Amino acid sequence: MSDKSVVVIIGAGLAGLAAGVYAQMNGYRSHIFEHHSRPGGVAAAWRRGDYLIDGGIHFLMGHRPGQPLYDLYKELGAMDGGRFLDMPDYGRYFDEVSGRSITITADLDQLAANLRAISPADGRLIDELIAGVRAMQGAGTFDMSMGEPPELASRWGSVRLLWRMRRVLRYFTGRYARPVSDYAQRFQDPWLRRLVANLFLPEVPYWFVLMLLALLAERQMGLLEEGCPGFVHPIERRYRELGGQVTYNATVEEILVEDGRAAGVRLADGTQHRAEAVISAADGHTTIFKMLGGRYADEPTRARYRDWQLIKPTFMVSYGVARAFDREPHVSMFSLARPLKVGAHVVDMLVLRVFNYSAHFAPAGKTVIQASFDTDWDYWHALHADRPAYEAEKARLAAEVLERLEAHYPGLSTQVEVTDVATPYTTWRYTLNCRGAYMGWLPTSKQLMTSLPRTLPGLADFYMAGQWVVPGGGVPISLLSGRDAVRILCKRDGKPFVAR
Ligand SMILES: Cc1cc2nc3c(=O)[nH]c(=O)nc-3n(C[C@H](O)[C@H](O)[C@H](O)COP(=O)(O)OP(=O)(O)OC[C@H]3O[C@@H](n4cnc5c(N)ncnc54)[C@H](O)[C@@H]3O)c2cc1C
Repeated sequence: MSDKSVVVIIGAGLAGLAAGVYAQMNGYRSHIFEHHSRPGGVAAAWRRGDYLIDGGIHFLMGHRPGQPLYDLYKELGAMDGGRFLDMPDYGRYFDEVSGRSITITADLDQLAANLRAISPADGRLIDELIAGVRAMQGAGTFDMSMGEPPELASRWGSVRLLWRMRRVLRYFTGRYARPVSDYAQRFQDPWLRRLVANLFLPEVPYWFVLMLLALLAERQMGLLEEGCPGFVHPIERRYRELGGQVTYNATVEEILVEDGRAAGVRLADGTQHRAEAVISAADGHTTIFKMLGGRYADEPTRARYRDWQLIKPTFMVSYGVARAFDREPHVSMFSLARPLKVGAHVVDMLVLRVFNYSAHFAPAGKTVIQASFDTDWDYWHALHADRPAYEAEKARLAAEVLERLEAHYPGLSTQVEVTDVATPYTTWRYTLNCRGAYMGWLPTSKQLMTSLPRTLPGLADFYMAGQWVVPGGGVPISLLSGRDAVRILCKRDGKPFVAR
């Protein structure tokens, strides 16, 4: 390849933008084609009247100087946007049945005391949990989840990583590698069982929760002062400043293949764009089975797309409220005394984000609050075929959720100025993520520990990036996957990878 060879990138989500920035830094001429009218993919926000509804990133890991992730954000220009605010705590859990509540604080002594106050009988398990979190602190566990793709992995790199993590290796086996929901069953108190199982997703391994709490304790979790736009737009700006080109409202339908090499793309409007390499940072299923017609899917790939679990899609209702929520935590998890019924499913846990930590989301004295819960793709997909029924169900749930919240915030219903509902179908419409899976693969132990290839057998000059090649998704590893795609490209071209 010549130094100025053209690289087409599919998708201007965080992975696609990162791939674009590094492609430009490394002397390629890149062009991103994006299905939606704006950058960011699932890291999305939209205006409703005076309110900014942020439907994406909640917290960012490694936002402080001195961390490898901080350097990554800096390279990408993300630090030129809004500030990152230290997350004071992970959030508050509230059990509507018993009236008990607990704050998951960054102070581990306080956290232990809070947990013991709920269930003194579970003291031994609480000590074990806190000891696990302390062990994870500073152990580089997050680096492990950012491991090298197979195309770049070396035995020496793996040995180095294992050596760095030798203190905590035992936490990645046995009961610690079981889903946290299994581990939680050991607690005697029923609400504590529920709480521990839902510290993140019930399916994640126990070690994942220990790692999250360790990052919290190290103050390595930050909130975005300006929401997703304050993170996404500076990266897109950096990309353009480096000479990158991006076209929105441009849906790729086919990846052109000639003589076993990716040679460009064909868009939905019929235009073709030639390239010497193609990076897809779009949904994996569409990329492999539609854009490439399934011709380069080997058996492991087919098995993965057939058998692996996806993250459950979400129903999200945001309210712009003429009320200050000054002393409220930025997130609360309510175990509902009166569950909601959605299709065949019962929803008994509501997550409430309160955007009270920055003036960026609402005018003075007003606040955006946002409730969400896991839901079922098939239900919403089928319902969407009957538009009036779909709209009626959105309205019903927005009203029912508000009614549940009214019990916690009396008078709330009369203060709502704006209501905005996003269903799994909304996620799909704007990002084309398979079955509305906004973070790709479910982060189970097995799926998290599998390092997925970024290339397909039999197809040269083609690379993948984004959350469908880094199980569990999330901002850091999605960005890194864009970087890795360009590292692989540079390796092929026999030139050193640069990051400036
Ligand atoms: C509500 C929510 C909360 C989250 N909270 C956090 C958090 O707290 N911390 C964290 O680290 N992560 C969080 N995440 C996850 C994180 O935002 C994602 O994992 C990450 O942004 C994924 O980026 P991506 O580029 O891989 O994928 P995507 O954002 O899905 O980008 C893919 C892009 O490709 C485009 N595309 C698809 N098909 C085509 C096509 N045919 N042609 C052209 N373009 C196409 C899409 O439109 C999209 O823009 C959250 C996500 C959501 C939705």
